[in-house]
This record gives sequence, C-alpha cells and structure tokens, in this order.
Amino acid sequence: MRLILLGPPGAGKGTQAQRLVAKHGLLQLSTGEMLRAAVKAGTPVGLRAKDMMARGELVPDDLVIAIVSARIDEPDARNGFILDGFPRTMPQARALDRMLEEKGLKLDAVIDLKVDENMLLERIEKRIAETRARGETLRPDDDAEVLRRRLLAYRDQTTPLVTYYRLQSVLRQVDGMVEVCDVGRAVDDALEQGAHRQASDKLSASTGGHKGKKQSTKGGQATKEGRAAKKQRPAKKPKGLRSVRPAAKTRAAKVQGTPRATRSRKASPRKSDSRRRLTKRS
Ligand code: ADP
Repeated sequence: MRLILLGPPGAGKGTQAQRLVAKHGLLQLSTGEMLRAAVKAGTPVGLRAKDMMARGELVPDDLVIAIVSARIDEPDARNGFILDGFPRTMPQARALDRMLEEKGLKLDAVIDLKVDENMLLERIEKRIAETRARGETLRPDDDAEVLRRRLLAYRDQTTPLVTYYRLQSVLRQVDGMVEVCDVGRAVDDALEQGAHRQASDKLSASTGGHKGKKQSTKGGQATKEGRAAKKQRPAKKPKGLRSVRPAAKTRAAKVQGTPRATRSRKASPRKSDSRRRLTKRS
C-alpha cells in the first residue's frame, strides 16, 4: 500500500502515520524527519535546508524530490510506504507521479486530515508544553509565529493538491478534529472504501462494465492515461470542469458520426469519465 497523508502542520499526520505503520507494516517517510536528520548531520542537504526550516518556509522542491526519490528506492520501501509531509507543492506532486510511474508503482490513497486552523495554534502550544514537560528539546520551528508562517505556506502551496488528488480519484477526506482514536477509525474506513472502489473499478474494467466507460482501455492504462490527461489541464479544475460541460457535449455530438477507430484516443469521453468520477466521489 502506498499512501499520502495531507494536512496542515499539527493536523495529526505523524500520529496517524505511526498508527498505520504499526497496523500495516508500512514504512513512514516523513520529509520533515529526513530533513531534520540531514540538518543534524550537517550534510549538504541539511545545510541548504536549515534556515528555511527554522523560518517555517518550505525548502526547495528539487531538494525534497531528490531525497524522496532516493528513499523509495531502498529495499525497505518495497512493501509500501506512507508519505508524511510530501508532496507539499504541485511540482512535488507531479514529480511524485513521474517517480511512481517510472518505478511501476501506484498510489493507493491520499488521506486529507481536515482540521480547523484556529485550533492548530492551541494544539501546537500544547505540544510545546508537553515537550518541555518531558525535558526534551524543542524543534526550532515549534513556535507560534513560525507555525503561522507554516500554515500560510500550507494554504498557498499545499491545498491545491486536494483538487489534484480528487481528480485522480484517490482523495479520502477525514475529520481530524475528533478524538485521535476516532480519526484512526475514520482513516481505516476511508482506506477500506478506497480498496473496495479500486477492486470494483478493476472488475468493471476487466468485464467492460461501468456502462462502457473503460472499454477502450487495458489493465492499468486507464489510470495512466487519465492522469496524463489531467496533468495537462489548467490549475483550477472543479469550476473549469463544470464549465466545459457544454463544450464536451458538443464534441461528443461531433464524434458520434465518426467511426470508432478514427476517434482521437484523448477525445472527450475520457474527460467526461473524470468529470463523472469527480461528482461521484468527491
Ligand atoms: P509539520 O510539523 O508541518 O508536519 P514537518 O516535520 O513535516 O512539519 O516539516 C518541517 C519543515 O521541513 C517544514 O516546515 C519545511 O520547512 C520542511 N519540509 C518538510 N517537508 C517538506 C516538503 N515536502 N517540501 C518542502 N519543505 C518541506
């Protein structure tokens, strides 16, 4: 299983990741942890990242992409992993798609932990107090002002990923404001639902089901091509998708008289597929 945990700082990604690690024997890949280790070890990556991290800014995409790519090549990642804190920007998300495709791997689900931002400051203050009470050293970015900056970075650069993954039909949104064990249960439910959907999609594809939606595809091709098509679309998708409806209809009408073999492989039917998925699953 390959998962992504999305959610602003303090949303509880780390807690849920650890629970999933224990339950499914997955490897947790936290880019924050990897970067902190690099800073501590004084590696070239650490030296580049140190000040940006302390200020609550994101470190450059190329740097994080490189460390994730190298890490998922290691043997212990073969059975699956949970990405915690990556991707955090659209270029990172696209790079991850490319990485997975090159390695012949597939993303199973993206869990988005929905939290009230106003509560996050309270949470982080509690975390700071607890860390102090245990006599442990605070992270340099465990600070209210820095957290505000990290929240801003999340809002600006990471929230577009919600739409991106919704369009890939892998997004599962979970209320992160309830008790930790209830969040865990909701995450498990979301993963189970996702697994059922994937199984039924596979079955429909192999039997030519879904009212013919995937008839022209073989095996995993539907997903790959769908993703490729989605990547070419402009950033603001949901509205855009709704507004293309009449145009899509016109195109569909135009190709009706065209023999099947001469139709473009990237013509409207596949677009309308993803639109149907968007309205059904989001
Ligand atoms: P959080 O408390 O938000 O979960 P993390 O431990 O994931 O924080 O990350 C700490 C810091 O490391 C971030 O504020 C950022 O500076 C850097 N960082 C971690 N992951 C990424 C990433 N994918 N892209 C850019 N910067 C990152």
